[in-house]
Amino acid sequence: MSGGQDDAADRQGELASQLAAYARFLSSLSSIGVRPPAAIAGPATATPTGEQESAGPDAAGDTPSLEAVRETIGDCQRCRLAKGRKTIVFGQGNPRAELMFVGEAPGAEEDEQGLAFVGRAGQLLTDIVEKGLRMKRSEVFIANVIKCRPPQNRNPEPDEILACQPFLEAQIRAIRPRVLVGLGKFGAQWLLRTAEPITRLRGRVGEHEGIAVMPTYHPAYLLRNPAAKKDVWADMKEVLRILGRPVKG
Ligand code: URA
Repeated sequence: MSGGQDDAADRQGELASQLAAYARFLSSLSSIGVRPPAAIAGPATATPTGEQESAGPDAAGDTPSLEAVRETIGDCQRCRLAKGRKTIVFGQGNPRAELMFVGEAPGAEEDEQGLAFVGRAGQLLTDIVEKGLRMKRSEVFIANVIKCRPPQNRNPEPDEILACQPFLEAQIRAIRPRVLVGLGKFGAQWLLRTAEPITRLRGRVGEHEGIAVMPTYHPAYLLRNPAAKKDVWADMKEVLRILGRPVKG
């Protein structure tokens, strides 16, 4: 074979092994009730950003439990972040929470402890929940778009978000909160399936599979821009109103 044919054969082999890995990934989803992406499974629903939405909650049968979702994740090797992570940060809190927060991705402290939002930004999130909303942190559920720490805390890449997407979708279906709070660009855009900047999204209630979504600033942004705390407080008051809880101040 010529060099060109060798290259083509190598590329074909690589493609075949990538397809096999993707097929394994897709078959693992059915065990947590998530249908494969519509482009593969059948007719697609296009979103304004051109992304494809996955199936509705009842499309593939029973809603999975959080334990089943965690089991399906296993020792995940579905994207490149597996190489650099110490732990998979599944998220934690009340499995029947009325309120669920969705952040971006674990940082160093979260990767170390295996828990979401336990670093400096996490401390501020605790204050938002306990001092602002007057709820216990254990009453809410806290998760991220991405379950493994990106190297040097860089932004998650689109293929990493896609690889993790079925698990957060399944977590939301298992918990079925009344309100979802999208923290920062990644949490808010993921929940609302939009590419609009967080500055435009913030404070405007949207929805995710019939659940109210409040997009707000990320606590890490608030650490750098404390003046924006008043906006987050306004957003949290709206969350309390939706939940029918008392609003102070
Ligand atoms: N930032 C996030 O978005 N998530 C965490 O868990 C910690 C910091």
